[in-house]
Amino acid sequence: MKPAPFSYERPRDLDAALSMLAASGSSAKIIAGGQSLGPMLNLRLVQPELIVDISGLAELKRAEVSDGELVIGALVTHADIEDGRTTDVTRGAMRAVAANIAYRAVRNRGTIGGSLSHADPAADWISALAALGARVALRSLAGARMMAIEAFVLGALESALQTGEIVEAIHVPPRAASAHWGYAKSCRKTGEFAHAIGAVLIDPVAASARVVIGAIDTTPIVVTDAAELFGGRIAADYKQRFDIGVANGLLAKAGIDDAAQRHIHVSVLKRAVLEAAA
Ligand SMILES: Cc1cc2nc3c(=O)[nH]c(=O)nc-3n(C[C@H](O)[C@H](O)[C@H](O)COP(=O)(O)OP(=O)(O)OC[C@H]3O[C@@H](n4cnc5c(N)ncnc54)[C@H](O)[C@@H]3O)c2cc1C
Repeated sequence: MKPAPFSYERPRDLDAALSMLAASGSSAKIIAGGQSLGPMLNLRLVQPELIVDISGLAELKRAEVSDGELVIGALVTHADIEDGRTTDVTRGAMRAVAANIAYRAVRNRGTIGGSLSHADPAADWISALAALGARVALRSLAGARMMAIEAFVLGALESALQTGEIVEAIHVPPRAASAHWGYAKSCRKTGEFAHAIGAVLIDPVAASARVVIGAIDTTPIVVTDAAELFGGRIAADYKQRFDIGVANGLLAKAGIDDAAQRHIHVSVLKRAVLEAAA
């Protein structure tokens, strides 16, 4: 199929883009890398009157360290991160996640901001960035606001973005030298969307852990203080203390009724824990 007819604008800067979005209201759609929006247009799942192409906005392509955090523009591509063209404050975590998104052709065009905005529960950045404790910076003509990734993703293909608002950047805190990282996913075929994701950031020295169970059809389960998954405390022996019963309970509480599905998610999360401890 081909898209329904639409008007097309390519603003010269961010202010112009925001003005276009404000003037057009909900009849406009942003396009960045087009890797998710393109198929949706072709299938006529979305039929905007106006497409605002932000792919030329230099302001959104920057990545820099500011106040110790990596501020990564919405238009930075998965390939930019994979190839190390952005500073890596996560000591390899983000590079490894980027390298395993889809295929290289998708990574060349797909953007980190587009991935978050699309809010596909199976997408990698939603789970990985939530585990890393990242925040998302939003901008509209009304001003700027910032929120944690887990507050930004409201459901399947549903985010906190309001009409006229754009994802401007993602703020990623540095990963402490003592913090262990594990990321695992299960895909039917290499390069396909995951049907289970486990992401863990565990710091036995600081006795803290963030754990995410992703690709569960709705918002990922984000446990910001995950001691309960490790017998009540985070210590050097966390690998032995990982409690699959607690993980299973979290999934049941999130409405995953199918025991086989819960088993897959728990197994993938366990892989992430083992990877962190390796
Ligand atoms: C074959 C295939 C396999 C894939 N596999 C994976 C995978 O394994 N893991 C994974 O994570 N992803 C996967 N993807 C998705 C890919 O990562 C996309 O890059 C990503 O989902 C969307 O990024 P984009 O820049 O292409 O956004 P677009 O397609 O341009 O836009 C997506 C949505 O976000 C909105 N949007 C875009 N940018 C902004 C912004 N800055 N502010 C506000 N709204 C914005 C658009 O309006 C649209 O609604 C796959 C895609 C394909 C085609």
